[in-house]
Amino acid sequence: MRGSPLKVAARVRLRIEVRGIVQGVGFRPFVYRLARDCHLSGWVRNTSGNVVIEVEGPEENVNQFSALLKDKAPPAARVQDVTTRKLAAKGDIDFVIRKSQPEPGKYQPVSPDLATCPECLAEVFESENRRYLYPFTNCTNCGPRFTIIRDIPYDRPMTTMSRFTMCPECQAEYDDPLDRRFHAQPNACSKCGPSLQLTNPDGTLLPCTDPLHKAAELLNQGYIVAVKGLGGFQLACDATNQEAVARLRERKKRPGKPLALMMASIAEIERHCYVSAEEAELLLSSNAPIVLLKWRKDASNVTPLVAENNKYLGVMLPYTPLHHILMRYAARPLVMTSGNLSEEPICQDNEEALRRLHGIADYFLLHNRDIHARYDDSVYLVERGTARAIRRARGYAPSPISLPFKARQVLATGAEEKNTFCLTKDEYASLSQHIGDMDNEETVAHFENTFDLYQRLFRVQPEVIAYDLHPEYVSTKYALKYAADKGLKAVGVQHHHAHIVSCLVENGFDGPVIGIAFDGVGYGSDDNLWGGEFLVCDHSSFERAAHLEYVPMPGGVAAIRKPYRMALGYIYSLLGPETPLDGLPILSEIPADEIQIIKTQLERRLYSPLTSGAGRLFDAVSALAGVRGQIDYEAQAVIELEMTAPDHMTQFKPYPFTMDKEKPAVIKLHDLISTMINDVRDGAEPDMVSARFHLTMAQIILKTCRLISQQSGLKTVALSGGVFQNRLLFNLAVDALEKEGFNVLTHRLVPCNDGGISLGQAVIANNQLNNIKE
Ligand SMILES: [Zn+2]
Ligand SMILES: [Zn+2]
Repeated sequence: MRGSPLKVAARVRLRIEVRGIVQGVGFRPFVYRLARDCHLSGWVRNTSGNVVIEVEGPEENVNQFSALLKDKAPPAARVQDVTTRKLAAKGDIDFVIRKSQPEPGKYQPVSPDLATCPECLAEVFESENRRYLYPFTNCTNCGPRFTIIRDIPYDRPMTTMSRFTMCPECQAEYDDPLDRRFHAQPNACSKCGPSLQLTNPDGTLLPCTDPLHKAAELLNQGYIVAVKGLGGFQLACDATNQEAVARLRERKKRPGKPLALMMASIAEIERHCYVSAEEAELLLSSNAPIVLLKWRKDASNVTPLVAENNKYLGVMLPYTPLHHILMRYAARPLVMTSGNLSEEPICQDNEEALRRLHGIADYFLLHNRDIHARYDDSVYLVERGTARAIRRARGYAPSPISLPFKARQVLATGAEEKNTFCLTKDEYASLSQHIGDMDNEETVAHFENTFDLYQRLFRVQPEVIAYDLHPEYVSTKYALKYAADKGLKAVGVQHHHAHIVSCLVENGFDGPVIGIAFDGVGYGSDDNLWGGEFLVCDHSSFERAAHLEYVPMPGGVAAIRKPYRMALGYIYSLLGPETPLDGLPILSEIPADEIQIIKTQLERRLYSPLTSGAGRLFDAVSALAGVRGQIDYEAQAVIELEMTAPDHMTQFKPYPFTMDKEKPAVIKLHDLISTMINDVRDGAEPDMVSARFHLTMAQIILKTCRLISQQSGLKTVALSGGVFQNRLLFNLAVDALEKEGFNVLTHRLVPCNDGGISLGQAVIANNQLNNIKE
């Protein structure tokens, strides 16, 4: 162009379609500004499929626009795919944002809710600002998304904000393409948006000028306040007040399970916990999960009752303006735990909360923005420098997980505990947010409502249903009934195979691998309860290469609630029923009549299913070592055994064990149990027993992998199953395997516990059907 001023540059027109999380994250205003900056004409539009753009102008400018579109996208956007097509120039003069257009059958990944951005936070605490102390402040970079959306395309009428009419000032922001709140669907201010109410348990208004200030005052006086948050209610109390925390535990019927905390800032968290750079980054991210942090017990005034016998505290930062303001007023760490009765789903509506949390909360901090989807706080930990999901919900779901193949429309109904479900379509797996334990009606209703929502949002109509082999799982029964009602094919998937495949998928690995699935129990293909499994597997099939020795679980589920029963299961079946229990602290105190019942159950194999569950072995050892004989929350004995281990382990040696190298190989535990018993009788402290046992488990993992690798030639190992939430075992196992030259795959995006099962089920069902077709 330079040097030939008479020549008019050729105009180019491009049609661009963008896929990914590009709605509700300020993508259109970004496109608008970019097109203007590049002096292009044309338009941009949300559809229920993609964001569609047409730009027209000099070729150089159009190219510049295309490059910056990917590089400069707004922080919350996740561009997955961009396709372009050349069109004939039309000669439009301006660039405009066109009205959204629904398209039948098309869908879009929906953004998760995002923690308050720094700009909004600054406004909330700026006394001159019109949003000063307004608890529902948000913009295109932050705020509610998934929890308020009823359908796509993501526009205000499709959200629970539809009942609020914007005031002229908010409307002007919403309409101004150069404003941070341009088309921010939940945009609001104190004049036109949602508002707070503080009430008594009977729903009557508590007279006050500032409900948040009053709520903080009540919290500081030791009261329990139910707070309506982003995805449901939370129960809050002063975390430094032992009496208040004890009352909350008693009323919530949650005697032991650790409670999550909220603290105002990173600086505040650092007063109570050790925070690494990776942990700080995770806490401060727009996902803002609860992070399990090493507790500085000596420096912290948080009552030990928050997480008894635990080295870690679950802490999150405030993630809505409501929480930020409340934390500033309260000026101390608050317990901020899910608003439910033990194990039921989190409360969602005002009336529901007043009913279900009656007798638990002293006061209720309510608001009138409806929550369309229940959404628990996510829980993460950072291990080996990597953030790893323990519970995947707020801030993460429903972001899809990419699949390495084009999937059928499959519904996988997951497991019984920590249930999630998974829907696959095209190259995506939509893993639901944490649903919960399926043993109560409320959770099952939550499952069904969430399934409806996902079907609608992602335009999925399942053709195939995948389910766990356990015939008594509610999720299994649901799957079989659903398949029968709709005349669909149902595919049963083995629990531990699903665990390993969930790990493979998120690592983009299609196997085969040596998969180690260590968990409590899962239904095995021989009808026994598996859980200490070494599988050689890929995305479609598995072979059981090795497992922990079977032992009976005396009393079935009773042995899960009472780990001392499990200890007797090991002792009596491996060392003989006459083995004396003297010198073993927890076991020698079991009443004689219960011992007799257990012996009878074992002898006659009454209510005593066989298990190879690693979690059950940990339970037994916890009781044997004198750490814990009975539990009041899931995995408590295992967790406390881990917490008992000393920080330095080098002076300890593993216990002996042997291996039957048949196929499958069996890891025999006689020597382990007998040596441990002698150890305890000789006065070994629980910390030493715990250390030696953890080292033994790492040795079992290493030696078994060595054997399977010799047989199969495989050098890649995948670790999955809830037992790997045990950080000590996880680190010992990864260290040992990597030192031996194994490539070790671990979880990051999906939980290693049963919360990840549905992803594995869906992928296996897809692959099995593909194999049949070929
Ligand atoms: Zn914002
Ligand atoms: Zn307004």
